[in-house]
Amino acid sequence: MTVVLDGKKLRDKIFSDLKVKLDKMSEKPTLAVILAGDDPASQIYVRNKKKTAENLGINSIVIEYPADVTESELLAKIEELNNNKSITAILVQLPLPKHIDKFRIIDAILPQKDVDGLTPYNLGKLFAGEEPYVYPCTPKGILLLLDEYKIDIDGKHVVVIGRSNLVGKPVAQMLLKRNATVTMCHSHTKNLSDITKTADILISAVGKNVIGEKMLKSDCVVIDVGIFKNSNGKVRGDVDFENVSKIAAYISPVPGGVGPMTIASLMLNTVELFDKIM
Ligand code: NAP
Repeated sequence: MTVVLDGKKLRDKIFSDLKVKLDKMSEKPTLAVILAGDDPASQIYVRNKKKTAENLGINSIVIEYPADVTESELLAKIEELNNNKSITAILVQLPLPKHIDKFRIIDAILPQKDVDGLTPYNLGKLFAGEEPYVYPCTPKGILLLLDEYKIDIDGKHVVVIGRSNLVGKPVAQMLLKRNATVTMCHSHTKNLSDITKTADILISAVGKNVIGEKMLKSDCVVIDVGIFKNSNGKVRGDVDFENVSKIAAYISPVPGGVGPMTIASLMLNTVELFDKIM
């Protein structure tokens, strides 16, 4: 029978362990989130991050800017946060307004406070096979979910669809480190189905309805990272859950799979950075 990978259940377990740890800490981490622009989804994500942090006992501040904020204003704020000893973790909510160079902004975050693990220092460490201060949140959440269900990674063929710095590239590196054989696919990949049919583990991070059951072999593991609204306004993932769940051994749902694991990883990273700084 297909096992549904329950990200909410694992998130709750991680939170209850974190709460116990945080309750015992005399000094608490402080997470600073920069939100620029008026993207409604980003506003909801940031509100949830703040609320979640505070429920766990992590201090949290949100610094908001209008959509016409300048790059130099954002860089000045990051420098101020980098130099502020009471701020132990910094997150810049993506996407940024189009006129802002997101790489310049992310590069400005001090690696020791880079809670998303996306600065060149932390990504560079990861790609070199060394230890970054923290691993990027969504890839970390995916590996925690696979490990929770004791899904073997060593020697498995993992097909990753999507090559963003946020998900596809770092998750591929983390899986390589765990001795998977990794194939990366993207929008220029020819004959995608021929490749996905050979996957023991498929990770789809696209944001479009791309995976049906005919593209997969029986008993594979399917991790759906994608999240978007279909034409009826319903939140869904990249995978045709109903049909794929008939043939997969394990499948992560949307919502309730990778999403809760991303926020769990963010909170874990906030505490890990604090432990490393202190
Ligand atoms: P992204 O930067 O837009 O990357 C999307 C990737 O998909 C690109 O590499 C693109 O290829 C590839 N792609 C597009 N159309 C394709 C197709 N038809 N066939 C194969 N590959 C295709 O997105 P992202 O930031 O990685 O996010 C991906 C999805 O995951 C989004 O839906 C996002 O909302 C979701 N997400 C969810 C979480 C979570 O916590 N659940 C976290 C992060 C992201 P090219 O490189 O060739 O353009």
